[in-house]
Amino acid sequence: MIQSSCLLIMKMQWDPISQYLKISRSRLDMKTAKVLSTAALTIVFSTLATLPAMAAEQPVSPKAEQSIQNSLPNVAILATGGTIASKGAGALALTDYGVGAGQKPVGVQQLVDAVPEIQKFANISGEQVFNIGSSKLSTQDWLKLAKRVNELLESPSVDGIVITHGTDTLEETAYFLNLVTKSNKPVVLVASMRPATALSADGPLNLVNAVALAASKAAKDKGVMVVMNDQISPAFGVTKTNSTNVATFKCPDTGYMGYMQNNVPYFVSSPTKKHTVNTEFDISKLDALPRVEVNYVVLGSDGKLVDAMVKNGAKGIINAGVGHANMPNDVNKSLAEAVKQGVVVVAGSRVGSGMITPLNKFTKEGYVTAMMHNPQKARILLMLALTKTQDPKEIQRMFNEY
Ligand code: ASP
Repeated sequence: MIQSSCLLIMKMQWDPISQYLKISRSRLDMKTAKVLSTAALTIVFSTLATLPAMAAEQPVSPKAEQSIQNSLPNVAILATGGTIASKGAGALALTDYGVGAGQKPVGVQQLVDAVPEIQKFANISGEQVFNIGSSKLSTQDWLKLAKRVNELLESPSVDGIVITHGTDTLEETAYFLNLVTKSNKPVVLVASMRPATALSADGPLNLVNAVALAASKAAKDKGVMVVMNDQISPAFGVTKTNSTNVATFKCPDTGYMGYMQNNVPYFVSSPTKKHTVNTEFDISKLDALPRVEVNYVVLGSDGKLVDAMVKNGAKGIINAGVGHANMPNDVNKSLAEAVKQGVVVVAGSRVGSGMITPLNKFTKEGYVTAMMHNPQKARILLMLALTKTQDPKEIQRMFNEY
């Protein structure tokens, strides 16, 4: 029977190096992995060299083996779960899969083993940080992930990082990391819209592209990136626009930053917003982020939800207004009252693209405006801003710069 699952097809292949590297993938240790993979190559090449009638006197020297391995960059894969790590009941289970459908998630080991092609681009090591749907992640999880990413980026034996993630909140994690990771090395988030078992699963090629991108010198200084469907997106500009389609990630205000063609990145632009090493945010000593809520405005909204947010301890509120951040009078009244109680309010829009500039009608109430941040990204920036200041003018500066 023909299996469409990439996982199953790949399992049938025997790749001595990737099989051997299995033992080094559960916990990241690049140096050890390198030494071990060199040793593995020695065994493999020595075995080949002693085959009958071969010129057995010429085993591959350790130096040559080392240069084979050393010529590749080292990429760490941090797995967090999502559809890319999910299975369904069959090839046609395109939307019903994963834990909710009674299927166990795929671990980082299986994920990496399923796509041996990634080892053409980098020495791979892997780590399971979480294994959950991205809608279940918390801001505590962000802090844990970001601290681990920073730890790895500091290591001279890590050249780039790939984070596998669910698509649902991928843009949020990407933007959070874009503001708090401290390195110019590539950090690439990748996901899939179809589970590993699906017909035309998009995960395997997305993962190859992510590793190739993270291993590429051209990807340095670009901030945190998302690669999906051959498109490279900046963390600032990217957003999920379709709940099922593989071409879901778009950058309505910035456009894509580049494209993967035959696993090679072709950049067409660079981020102009401050990111990574140029931000003022430091999460290294934080164990929680300030509470920031999003109020979604619809025709006829009143201010009751805003009042409840304040009552429940919100330190900041993003108002996802209509159009250019407009809102009903009652919502405005509640937000203005929230400002008086020390809550920072950002006037944003539910529209999903376009800029909200600081018009007098907003600044006179003490509101910051979201500029080009959609509500979910404005929330992240406000959470981080509130770790530094509560001054709306300062926070407005941050919304202009990041
Ligand atoms: N449920 C998934 C998630 O973890 C959706 C996906 O990854 O495409 O976000």
